[in-house]
Amino acid sequence: MRVAQDTVVSIEYTLKDDQGNILDASDGRGPLEYLQGFQNIIPGLEQGLLGLGAGDTKTVTVPPALGYGEYSDKLLQRVPLDAFGGHAVQPGMRFRADTNQGMRTLTIKAIEGQEAVLDGNHELAGKTLHFDVKVVAVRAAEPTELAHGHPHQTGGCCGGGGCGSGESEGGCCSTEASAGGCCSTEGSEGGCCSTEQPAAEKQGGCGSAGCGCG
Ligand SMILES: [Zn+2]
Repeated sequence: MRVAQDTVVSIEYTLKDDQGNILDASDGRGPLEYLQGFQNIIPGLEQGLLGLGAGDTKTVTVPPALGYGEYSDKLLQRVPLDAFGGHAVQPGMRFRADTNQGMRTLTIKAIEGQEAVLDGNHELAGKTLHFDVKVVAVRAAEPTELAHGHPHQTGGCCGGGGCGSGESEGGCCSTEASAGGCCSTEGSEGGCCSTEQPAAEKQGGCGSAGCGCG
């Protein structure tokens, strides 16, 4: 079977920037599993994998427009330090907040005087992404997977790393599936139950889709 719409694809990958620095890799986390054609992963990578079969390898280069978008100064905003309610803030800290663009992960880019400069760009925005990918497996999706828009197997709902939106409270990691499921698999370290999100993955996989899967 080859990668096509409505197939569940399992990949190993290493992601590098233009300079060859490794930004992310599936090593240690286990393969990333996603449902092709459901925006589980960035469009450029999905397109690049079309037609490949298990065992195939490919380097897929993804421009920002098909990855995490161009870097936008409009996503910078200044907030008085008072707004952090006395919490110590430092450049590099990240948190999720409701913005006029919806829920976003914001990074504190700088502290200037009594203000914090917040950056709502994805950390990979503006970057051309180079994925070295190996296709581990391809199979037809189950009807329930198509209905939910994400894959279900190996370790339960979250086993494939379909989670990790950082909003998992009450979500994927607290469901019945997690007993012996997502939180107990080897893959969950740095995966579903942490706020670290595989870079290949778009936000809102399993976690925001409910993932109770019942
Ligand atoms: Zn589901």
